[in-house]
Amino acid sequence: MKSSFWGDYLSRNYVVGVDLGGTKILTAVADRQGSVLSRVRVATGADLGQDHVINEIVTSVAVALREAGVSTEAVAAAGIGVPGPLDPQTGVVYLAPNLGWQNLSLGEILGSRLKLPVYVDNDANLAALGECVYGAGQSADNLVYITVSTGVGGGLILGGKIYHGFSGGAGEIGHITLAADGPRCGCGNLGCLEALASGTAIAKRAVALVAEGRGLGILSRAGGDRGGVSARVVAAAASNGDGEAILIMRDAGRYLGMAVAGILNLLNPSVVVLGGGVMQSGSILWEAMLETTRRCALSSALQEVSIVRAALGEEAGVMGALALALEKSQGV
Ligand SMILES: [Zn+2]
Repeated sequence: MKSSFWGDYLSRNYVVGVDLGGTKILTAVADRQGSVLSRVRVATGADLGQDHVINEIVTSVAVALREAGVSTEAVAAAGIGVPGPLDPQTGVVYLAPNLGWQNLSLGEILGSRLKLPVYVDNDANLAALGECVYGAGQSADNLVYITVSTGVGGGLILGGKIYHGFSGGAGEIGHITLAADGPRCGCGNLGCLEALASGTAIAKRAVALVAEGRGLGILSRAGGDRGGVSARVVAAAASNGDGEAILIMRDAGRYLGMAVAGILNLLNPSVVVLGGGVMQSGSILWEAMLETTRRCALSSALQEVSIVRAALGEEAGVMGALALALEKSQGV
C-alpha cells in the first residue's frame, strides 16, 4: 500500500529535467505524457564556482516552472544529467572535470534546494534514455547510444533501463581499444575509438597531413589557414571529393563500424542510435561505418537491428532527464 507521502507525489502531474553541461544548462518542464511545456537555457558559468552553478540550476528550474505555469507543489520529481562519473543511487558526483567538481552530493543539495525528489545520472546515459523514449529509439528495450563529437561517448539501455554496470562505469564506448598501436587517447591508452574516430582525432590527422605539406584540398577548404583545419573542414573537403579527406573520414567510419559490430555481438540490441556533430558530417563516414559493421558483426546480431541517426540533437540529455524523472515518479 502506498504511503500518504508517495500518494501526494503521485498526484503531482509534472516533472523537471535538467541537462548540466560544461558550458550550458538546459532545463525543461513536462507533463506526465512527456509533452514539454517550457525550456530554459542558461550559461553554466563553471569558472564562477560550485555554488554559482547550483544557484543557476535552481534559478533555471524556477524560471522553467514559471514559464510553464506550474507550481513546485505540482511537480513529482526532477532528473538531472551531469558530465562525469557518479553514483545514481546516492546522487553523489565523483568527478566532473568540466565543472571542477569532486565528490559533491548533488542529489541531496538540489533535493533540499528544490524541495523535490531529485534523480542524478550521467549525461550520456540520459541522452541514451532521451533518444530511446522520445527520439530515434522507438522505445526499444535494448538500445545502444553513441555520440561522436569532440569525444566519443555512449549509453546503454538494457532491459528497458539505463545499464550502469557494477560501479557506474558502463557505456564508455569511446574507450574501447581498436588499434593496439594507435594514437594516444585522452585517457592515456593507445588506440581507443575516441582517439581514432572523434572530431578531435579527425582534425589531428588532417593537421598532421598538412604539416607534411600534403592535404592541400583540406588546407584550401580551411581558407589556407592551418589553424582552421577542423573535423568540419575535413568533412566538407571529403563531401567535395577530396581524396585525402575521404580517406580520413572513411577510416574514422571504419573504426566506428568495428566498435558498433563489437557492441552488436556483445549485447544484441534492437536499435543503435548514433548522434553528435561528426555523425552529421555527410554520408562518407556513415556508409563506411555501416559497411564495416555489416562485415564484422555476426549475422545473428545484425538481423533486424536498426542502426539510425539520433533525432534529438542537443535536446537528448534534457529529454532523458525528463524521462528519468517520469520513470522514477511512476509506481513508487
Ligand atoms: Zn581512451
